[in-house]
Amino acid sequence: MNLTFNNRVALVTGAGRGIGKSIAELLAKSGVTVICVSKSAESCGAVASGIVAAGGKAKALAVDVADGAAVKVASEQLLAEFGNIDILVNNAGITKDGLLFRMSEDDWNNVMATNLTSCFHFTKLIGRPMTQKRWGRIVNITSVVGLMGNAGQANYCAAKAGMIGFTKAIAKEFAARNVTCNAVAPGFIKTDMTASLPPEAGEKLHGVIPLKRLGEASDIANMTAYLCSEEAGYITGQVFTVDGGMVM
Ligand code: NAP
Repeated sequence: MNLTFNNRVALVTGAGRGIGKSIAELLAKSGVTVICVSKSAESCGAVASGIVAAGGKAKALAVDVADGAAVKVASEQLLAEFGNIDILVNNAGITKDGLLFRMSEDDWNNVMATNLTSCFHFTKLIGRPMTQKRWGRIVNITSVVGLMGNAGQANYCAAKAGMIGFTKAIAKEFAARNVTCNAVAPGFIKTDMTASLPPEAGEKLHGVIPLKRLGEASDIANMTAYLCSEEAGYITGQVFTVDGGMVM
């Protein structure tokens, strides 16, 4: 099925690597103008340059999404430049793992700010003109651990579960304005975030993943692009696990 995008403009956070890069590239291939946001100018710059070199339309912007003031400045600058942003993918995320008794307040706060509070800021700032224009798509990249929990990731699980509640609240708030808001919950995907897993952990995972492989970033990009398309206009407030069948 060919998805319809009508030359929309999208902002993808965490687009410098991994899942965000794959989402940015897939949307750009479909004719969407993509604003690639990441923490370092190098990573989002390289992705945007790659998209342009392949004939697509992209802009790179380095923003620390954990810094609410920086997100406000960046969003205002982008809205002044583009007029409106039709598609928002809140994908930037980090982990700072540790068992609760060893988890510092900084590790708690950083994970909350980067994964969850960033969604609040971007959705509030980009969502206002989107709702005024009465068309929009918001996709929040959460995680299966936001549904099932994981020892050693209390901060990350809380942030990802928070994203799910946030998704449903925004879906209800924005529905009357024809703006959908959904969440995608990846399982274990091969990116820098999971690169430090020891090989035996990978083998163990195969035992609990019915499809017997770790996911690719493109598996998440495919679901996300669909939710951003015209065709997904009757879907909102949902959480889609893309995890090889691990959580059923
Ligand atoms: P990744 O390879 O580590 O890439 C993370 C991206 O987020 C990078 O582009 C990074 O920017 C950006 N980022 C991190 N902190 C940022 C900040 N403060 N400001 C701006 N950008 C920031 O991660 P990934 O595996 O692709 O994960 C993407 C999303 O999927 C995350 O939300 C993650 O929690 C979620 N997820 C991943 C998995 C998995 O198995 N990989 C599973 C479930 C959920 P730089 O490039 O500048 O460093």
